[in-house]
Amino acid sequence: MAETKVIAICNQKGGVGKTTTTVNLGVGLAKAGKKVLLIDADPQGDLTTCFGWHDNDDLKDTLASQIAKMIREEPVDKRIGILKHEEGIHLIPSNLELSGLEMMLVNTMSRETALREYLKDIKGSYDYILIDCMPSLGMITINALSAADSVLIPVQAQYLPAKGMTQLVQTINRVKKINPHLKIDGIVMTLVDGRTNLAKTVSETLKRNYGKVIKIYDAKIPIAVKAAEMATRGVSIYSYDKNSPAARAYRELTKEVIKDGEKRRDKSKSALSR
Ligand code: ADP
Ligand code: MG
Repeated sequence: MAETKVIAICNQKGGVGKTTTTVNLGVGLAKAGKKVLLIDADPQGDLTTCFGWHDNDDLKDTLASQIAKMIREEPVDKRIGILKHEEGIHLIPSNLELSGLEMMLVNTMSRETALREYLKDIKGSYDYILIDCMPSLGMITINALSAADSVLIPVQAQYLPAKGMTQLVQTINRVKKINPHLKIDGIVMTLVDGRTNLAKTVSETLKRNYGKVIKIYDAKIPIAVKAAEMATRGVSIYSYDKNSPAARAYRELTKEVIKDGEKRRDKSKSALSR
């Protein structure tokens, strides 16, 4: 069975490129021949609409409905509620119902680990599972972090995320009590404006403050109209404009993520042979 890597795409600030990164990294991994499941863990459902399911409020089987069934100990067929997109990824969609689940989880026994529990027996079918987190550090995000092996943090190049980063790192450290091997894979700089030095300043400041503990990916995602337009077309940047600088940057990020994944596989292999 393949060893699955679960990555939470997480930053409690909105508008930093989490969803756009999930779409393009997800499809990038699928294009590299990996089996990929994407999970929309935001009640806004942006990931779901980005892939073309615009009437997501009409979707009957979503992350929320499936996990609610599991919590109520009703029979759950995990094959339903997985949508298949033409670009080769699978998607567990979401809509506003997910905010209801947030409330339901509070009164549940294993409230931090419901998603991990849900993924247990479907995980093995995928090489990568990416979870597109919502802009908060509430119970749904805690569930994403508990289910994840690592965290990828998109940071908007124009803003110094000083305080936000500290909160995020604290939350990750708290989650480590229930998920001890959770690690931060790195920060990816998004919405980089090549005409200003801001991105450089922000990335240098991040390096100074966190560089010893958190890697910053070489790939920098440029600010690009195409990247924003893509969201309305239901496809990734590779289908929308495969030669754009944004597509190139996401291809580069995909390669770096695969490299990380392979390092991890080698490590666990050598641990097995010991
Ligand atoms: P988040 O999921 O963190 O809230 P999104 O991925 O939804 O962030 O991005 C926020 C907004 O910025 C969206 O309207 C999106 O289309 C746009 N956007 C994302 N990445 C880029 C980019 N590289 N260039 C221009 N616009 C972008
Ligand atoms: Mg989003």
